[in-house]
Amino acid sequence: ATSSMRPGPTFKLVLLGDGRVGKTSMVLRYVNNIFSDKQTATIQASYLTKRVNVDGLTVTLAIWDTAGQERFHALGPIYYRDADAAVLVYDLMDKDSFARVKSWVKELRKMANKNIVLTIAGNKCDMDRHRTVDLQDSERYAESIGAHHFLTSAKSNTGIEEAFLDVAKRVLEVR
Ligand code: GDP
Ligand code: MG
Repeated sequence: ATSSMRPGPTFKLVLLGDGRVGKTSMVLRYVNNIFSDKQTATIQASYLTKRVNVDGLTVTLAIWDTAGQERFHALGPIYYRDADAAVLVYDLMDKDSFARVKSWVKELRKMANKNIVLTIAGNKCDMDRHRTVDLQDSERYAESIGAHHFLTSAKSNTGIEEAFLDVAKRVLEVR
């Protein structure tokens, strides 16, 4: 019930991944419930906030969307050094973008909070019949690093709320 809602903490969440995998589309779907097939490339990192109810507690997610086409060294650790969680996004039809997730994980292991919550999102699952990344591989990899794996689509609004809610719950647990 609304009357029992308690104000809670703010968590910093970063979205990382190759350009064109759908990071900006996922944030815009989650926060504003919109989608565009002509989503233009993100030029700078930007952030949006979303309040989410976790068991009667109002958690604020400060979601940092990055320009994925930049090399991570160019982006700089300032974006993820103090992040509570990272959502690593790849495109289910792009194997290179999945390989990039693994480089991001290595980078985060070095530069980020030791207890950072990691989630891997295989995006564009509305195009699932064209998938080239093997689902077992990606799920097994996620498990091996203690991450959760979600199939998402910003276009069909699949798995997005679930993924972000799961992130909020897990950050609350590790805090
Ligand atoms: P970013 O560079 O990672 O931020 O990716 P964008 O959000 O800019 O999306 C790149 C392109 O993929 C755009 O044309 C989007 O419309 C498209 N896109 C993003 N998410 C999805 C999705 O879930 N399904 C499909 N079919 N296209 C998507
Ligand atoms: Mg973008």
